[in-house]
Amino acid sequence: MKKILAINTGGTISMSLNDEGGVVQNEQNPLDNAAGLGLQDIELINDDLLNLPSPQMTPDTMLKIKDRIQQAIAEGIDGVVVTHGTDTLEETAYFLDLTLPNTIPVVVTGAMRSSNEIGADGLFNFKCAIEVAASDSARDKGVLVVFNTGIYSARYVTKTHTTSVDTFKDPIYGTLGTVDHDQVIFAQQLIGSEYTEIDHVIDGVYLVKAYAGMDGTLFNAIQQAHPKGVVIEAMGAGNLPKATLPAVKRLLDAGIPVVLVSRCFSGYAQPIYAYPGGGIELQSLGIVFCEQLNGPKARIKLTVGLSCGKSGPALQEYMSNALS
Ligand code: ASP
Repeated sequence: MKKILAINTGGTISMSLNDEGGVVQNEQNPLDNAAGLGLQDIELINDDLLNLPSPQMTPDTMLKIKDRIQQAIAEGIDGVVVTHGTDTLEETAYFLDLTLPNTIPVVVTGAMRSSNEIGADGLFNFKCAIEVAASDSARDKGVLVVFNTGIYSARYVTKTHTTSVDTFKDPIYGTLGTVDHDQVIFAQQLIGSEYTEIDHVIDGVYLVKAYAGMDGTLFNAIQQAHPKGVVIEAMGAGNLPKATLPAVKRLLDAGIPVVLVSRCFSGYAQPIYAYPGGGIELQSLGIVFCEQLNGPKARIKLTVGLSCGKSGPALQEYMSNALS
């Protein structure tokens, strides 16, 4: 018999549609008394740790979830499921991936339709996530996201559709596996899984998206706020309009780590272009390329790296190593 802990944190999976047609939070989580899960040889323990719509999640709430999982690991739990709103699910999942030892399966899931809507997907995703968390084959694969039968690496998965139940995708590598009629099937192995111990999180890490015609205004405004770090979602393979450069250089001159990812949905940020504002110039200025992550995830990683005291070359290595 496997003991699985479900840490419920809120989101649509625990909400319901009211008479006015709005989706609202419930005081009692419908997952607490979920019937009909049909779990075999699994003891399920529910802990309603939080009840937040996921836009209200912060690095501090992510740390709270991480601490609760570590407590459960110390107590001998076999696997953990975290239920979470889908809007920031990928950020919390990646935070957990970066900060938890790879000892037991940790699976994050949610729902796109609230608990009393026709075609509600919450219970199905919950059941699939529990089955993955109880599966020996889910060990050593980092934190996983299970959604609509797909099993994804927290490192790469992203929400791709505002309302579809088939919203979570890994645009670069696809699924690690699938859940098919109670069978957990893996087809890919995760390469590299280091973790970083943290006991607090800093704030002051900003994320900015580049656009055609951008100048230094937003970077100047960020500098006024005394940032600890800045992530830029640059264009294409990793380029910026040249009008941004004086302001970006001022950030770098002030010793603020500046990390670059691509605003493209898929692919790698790399220093390829040698024109003014091109990736080669950006890298030579000291901007760190964070190859495979999207903007929100790079911001989580920079927050984690800075929170554990990394700086200079150690921080650069941490941010540029796609497998850590
Ligand atoms: N807005 C909701 C949230 O993230 C969406 C969801 O859970 O699917 O909490």
